[in-house]
Amino acid sequence: MLSPSLALARMLAAAIPPPPAHGMQLADALGATLAVDVTAPLALPAFDNSAMDGYALRASDVADGRSLPVSQRILAGQVPLPLTSGTAARIFTGAPLPEGADSVMMQEACAVVDGSVRPLQAVTVGSHVRRRGEDVAQGSLLLPRGRRLRPQDLGLLASVGMASVEVYRPLRVAILVTGDELREPGGPPLRAGEIFNSNGPMLSAMVRRCGLQAIETERVADSEQAVAQALGDAAAAADVIVSTGGVSVGEADHVRSQVERLGALSLWRIAIKPGKPLAFGRVGDVPFIGLPGNPSSVFVTFAVLARPFLLACQGRDEREMPRLTVRAGFSVTSAGTREEYLRVTLLPGDDGTEAVLAGNQSSGALSAATRAQALAVVPPDTLIAPGDAVDVILLDALVP
Ligand code: AMP
Ligand code: MG
Repeated sequence: MLSPSLALARMLAAAIPPPPAHGMQLADALGATLAVDVTAPLALPAFDNSAMDGYALRASDVADGRSLPVSQRILAGQVPLPLTSGTAARIFTGAPLPEGADSVMMQEACAVVDGSVRPLQAVTVGSHVRRRGEDVAQGSLLLPRGRRLRPQDLGLLASVGMASVEVYRPLRVAILVTGDELREPGGPPLRAGEIFNSNGPMLSAMVRRCGLQAIETERVADSEQAVAQALGDAAAAADVIVSTGGVSVGEADHVRSQVERLGALSLWRIAIKPGKPLAFGRVGDVPFIGLPGNPSSVFVTFAVLARPFLLACQGRDEREMPRLTVRAGFSVTSAGTREEYLRVTLLPGDDGTEAVLAGNQSSGALSAATRAQALAVVPPDTLIAPGDAVDVILLDALVP
């Protein structure tokens, strides 16, 4: 069995190129993936300006603490006159620095008497001045291709005057859920042995949270024909196929055999807990990820393996999510052979942040995932005692 990181490396090597790009208004671009490197058409700030309400002057003119007459008043949006030598200019935040001035005294640090201003503190050259280009140099890389546009990214694009951006069309992800036992919420009451399809809504939401397009597909019955038909339809409609269930070793598990028949299977079984029976391959040329059926396995393997693969196919620049090291507020008393992802909550402890189990860690039990704030990563062959260091990945980063 491959480790999750080796399995992911193999999957990423099979990622497809990003979907076609098109122009999009900034107002619509939240969550979209930038398709080009954006270089700054302007410097930011575009001109030297004041960071404070106060007085613009030449620092050397007040080196001896002398008063200067105030020769002009400059509001944000106005064009100043050059500074008359030996005077100060009243200036407000964001207003352009007049030519000849090199510093701003903030108004709280000076005394004004009879129209003249005197420093109460020494003024150093450049103080409270925001220099042209000090944030972003004109022509420099403003945002890289692959960036998922967040609110602050949209702000930065607007600040250089961009009204639209080139973004990739969202990746179309077909979602197939397999299982004769599955029924849809909202339908007739369950009969004995039936369960509601929880993977479908969860997976679809995780896909959409990644900024991708989820193509909902009906539940697929546990027969070779139904699975083959659904895989073929999905391959025709989607860029990538993600399924749940039917990839284990049961007699009703037909997904792997049909993927092999319609394409190829390149990975099966990964040393991850929960989620061992994950399968990866292609249906025709369309990449295929077969997640296990158990809901917690779906949650974990989507976050750890499917998500980075799908983001790579979307052309996103993100790599692995940062891990934080915290204290274990639990113990692992028998070492496992697989890398385990525990659903944990994070609490302040005496010795820093502590990870506490969020509930039942069985692969079939989903409620711990709803309480969890992070996944704690327990490497194989590892025992953990309370207080030991343990790595966690925040769920806000994985399934925001
Ligand atoms: P399987 O790998 O198909 O045998 O599924 C493993 C377990 O996950 C079984 O208990 C299934 O009933 C359950 N399961 C499979 N698909 C779903 C689903 N869409 N929603 C909820 N549970 C599921
Ligand atoms: Mg099944």
